[in-house]
Amino acid sequence: MSLPERAALVVSAHSADFVWRAGGAIALHAEQGFKMKIVCLSYGERGESAKLWRKGAMTIEEVKRVRREEAEQAAQILGGDIEFWDLGDYPMRVDDGVLFRLADLYRALRPAFVLSHSLKDPYNFDHPLATHLAQEARIVAQAHGYRPDAPVIGAPPVYLFEPHQTEQCEWRPDILLDISPVWERKRRAIEAMKGQEHLWDYYTRVALQRGVQAARNSDRKVTYGEGYQRIFPHVTGTLA
Ligand SMILES: [Zn+2]
Repeated sequence: MSLPERAALVVSAHSADFVWRAGGAIALHAEQGFKMKIVCLSYGERGESAKLWRKGAMTIEEVKRVRREEAEQAAQILGGDIEFWDLGDYPMRVDDGVLFRLADLYRALRPAFVLSHSLKDPYNFDHPLATHLAQEARIVAQAHGYRPDAPVIGAPPVYLFEPHQTEQCEWRPDILLDISPVWERKRRAIEAMKGQEHLWDYYTRVALQRGVQAARNSDRKVTYGEGYQRIFPHVTGTLA
């Protein structure tokens, strides 16, 4: 008898966020046999594609096409299963149809954990909106009265991945994930995002910093890390 497939859900506001902020977690858990479902709510075509727009003679459709191609390539390198909802960015807006679509995805996927953005981000209103959506859909999917014909989900932990400016976003990591074994893949996925080359080395430095901190807080030899902030208490039978 084969084990039921384990899955996790990544809710990314724009098409590259999952790469910088959670690429290591995606690659690591994909290697452990998890189906890593990545939902890109938008391509980041307006707000996070400056290099493409600066080329001139660019259309929104062409920017979306390039962003989609890059994100698909990055997801493939990481072992993630990506889908694009094309909701638009700057500003992103979501209605109840989107909320129920995500709630239905929770019910179908039954994720063991969820990754999304920080709760606050004064530089980017799409990011906390994505997290709000991820959280609200999770709660709808837990409700017995929502589509009573389908079984409700449990309480998958929600981990907030690292924003660009941590202090202003009031984000503080309480989990440091050792991504050293998959760093080479994360870096290749980062380099697939050709439209944002200015971030490649920045997020390499972030990974090195988190790696040093992970080693300092454990007896592990860690070179590269990713930080996450939990929303809900960690439930455990041991404190060791
Ligand atoms: Zn973003």
